[in-house]
Amino acid sequence: MTLTDLPKSTTYAIVGAGVHGLSTALHLARELAATGRGSGADVVVLDKTAPGAGATGIACGCVRNFYMTEPLHDILRHSLDVWMEDPVNYAFQQVGYISCGEGNQIDDYGRIHRHQNDVGYPSDLYVGAEGKAFLKAIWPDFVTDGIDVVLHEKKSGYAGTRQFVRGLVEKCEAAGVRILSGVEVLDYESENGTVRSILTDRGRMKVDMVILSVGAWVGKHWSLLGKPATISCGYADGRAVEKDMWTYWRLLEGEVYVDEPYRTAIDGDPPVLHVEMMNTPVVDPATGKEIQDHLYVYWKNGAERMDRPGVQGGTIPIRIGPEAMIDPYGHANDEYQADDWFADYMCAAMGQLMGRFEGCRKNFRERRNGGVGAFTPDNVPVFDWIAPNVYMTADSNHGFKMAGVGKLLARELVRGETPAALKPFAFTRFAEGRTFGASNSHSPWV
Ligand SMILES: Cc1cc2nc3c(=O)[nH]c(=O)nc-3n(C[C@H](O)[C@H](O)[C@H](O)COP(=O)(O)OP(=O)(O)OC[C@H]3O[C@@H](n4cnc5c(N)ncnc54)[C@H](O)[C@@H]3O)c2cc1C
Repeated sequence: MTLTDLPKSTTYAIVGAGVHGLSTALHLARELAATGRGSGADVVVLDKTAPGAGATGIACGCVRNFYMTEPLHDILRHSLDVWMEDPVNYAFQQVGYISCGEGNQIDDYGRIHRHQNDVGYPSDLYVGAEGKAFLKAIWPDFVTDGIDVVLHEKKSGYAGTRQFVRGLVEKCEAAGVRILSGVEVLDYESENGTVRSILTDRGRMKVDMVILSVGAWVGKHWSLLGKPATISCGYADGRAVEKDMWTYWRLLEGEVYVDEPYRTAIDGDPPVLHVEMMNTPVVDPATGKEIQDHLYVYWKNGAERMDRPGVQGGTIPIRIGPEAMIDPYGHANDEYQADDWFADYMCAAMGQLMGRFEGCRKNFRERRNGGVGAFTPDNVPVFDWIAPNVYMTADSNHGFKMAGVGKLLARELVRGETPAALKPFAFTRFAEGRTFGASNSHSPWV
C-alpha cells in the first residue's frame, strides 16, 4: 500500500481498490502466471484514497445468496469459492444466513430455494409451523407470529471488511501487483473509443486495458467516458422505458450493543438474519406509534467494527435520485448519515422479533453510519465492456459479497471468453429487451 511513482504505462489499469478492483487484480495476476502470459507486474491498481476507502470498507459484510434475480445465485456460488479459499485472512465467518417472510412471499422463497439448489448453492426451505420451529430452535426467544416461510443458506455468513481488504491487498502485493494509493484518475484519453491513457493527478499512464471498479463514483467515470445520463430499457413484453443510468441510494445501518453475548441456543455465532414482513408495521414501544407500515431488517454479530460486543444491521436504503454528493464518502459525509428515526426503527423491529432485544434502544451506538451506493436502471449489476478496452464492474451496491466477480473477470480478460455466470449481467440487456423486472419486495436489492 505504498505511494510510489506512477508507471509510464501498464497492460492492465484497475481504477478503484474495493472488492472488485482488488479481486480482479489478484486473480488477473494468477491467471497471467498460470497461462504464461504475464504476471502481477502487468497489473496496476489506482485508488484516489486507499484500498477499502469506498463501500467495501464500510459494508455490513453480509455474504448471502437470497436474491429473486436468479442469475445472481451463480455469481454467489463462485464468490463462495473465493471466500472459502482463505476464510481466516478474509475474516469470513461461515455462520449461515436465514431469511424469513410472510405468506405473500412463499412462492418467491420456493423459486429462490429451487434455483439455488439447481446451481449448487444449497439452501433449506421451511414453511408454516416448520419454519417457526426452526427459528425457535436457533433463537428460543424469536417471536415468530406472522412468519410463514424461512430459507436457510448454510454456506453463507459474514466477513470483517477491513480484514478482508487487508487480506486481498497482501495477496495482490505478494503476486507482484502494484497498488498505488492517493492517485486520482481525472480523465481518460481515447482514440476512436479506445482508451489509450489515463490522466491522473500524478501524471499520465498509457494503458492497454482499463478495469473500472469505482463503486459509487461510477457515474462520474461514466460521463468522463462520454456515456449518456439516461438509457432506454427494453423489457421482455416489448416495452421500452427511458431511465436514469445511475440512481443513488443511501444506506441506513447501525449497531446495537448487547448486555449478554448474542448467541444461539447451543451457544454458537448465529446465522446472519434477514426479515422482511411486508404487511407488519414496526411500532415504537416507547410511544406506541407506528414508525413504518412494514418491517425489513437484517443483523449479525458486530465483528471487527464494534468496540464492545454488539450486533450490526440495517434496513432498506433510501432513494436519493440521479445526483448525489459522493465525496467525502461514507461516515465522513454530513448529508447521508442514517436518519434519526433509524435507531428507533431498528431497535423497535429487533425488539418485536426477539425478546432479548426488547428495550434495546438505550443500547444503540450513537455514531456516524451509512453510505451511498450507485444503482443501475434495473438495480441489478452490470459486468461488461463499455468501450473496446474498458470493462466496468458496477455491482448496483450488492457486491461486498461478490468476491468471485474478479475471479470470473480475470478469466475473461486473459482467456478472452466470457464465463457463463457473467453473461446475464451484460450491458446489452437494456437494448435487447432483457432488462430485469420488478420483484416482490420493498427493497431495491432484488
Ligand atoms: C453501508 C453499506 C453497507 C453495505 N453492506 C453490504 C453487505 O453487507 N453485503 C454486501 O454484499 N454488500 C454490501 N454493501 C455493498 C458493497 O459494499 C458494495 O457493493 C461494494 O463494496 C462495492 O465495491 P466496489 O469495489 O465496486 O467499490 P468501492 O468499494 O466503493 O471501491 C471503489 C474505490 O474507487 C476509488 N475511486 C473512486 N474514484 C476514483 C478515481 N477517480 N481515481 C482513483 N480511485 C477512485 C475509491 O477511493 C474506492 O476505494 C454495502 C454498502 C454500503 C454503502
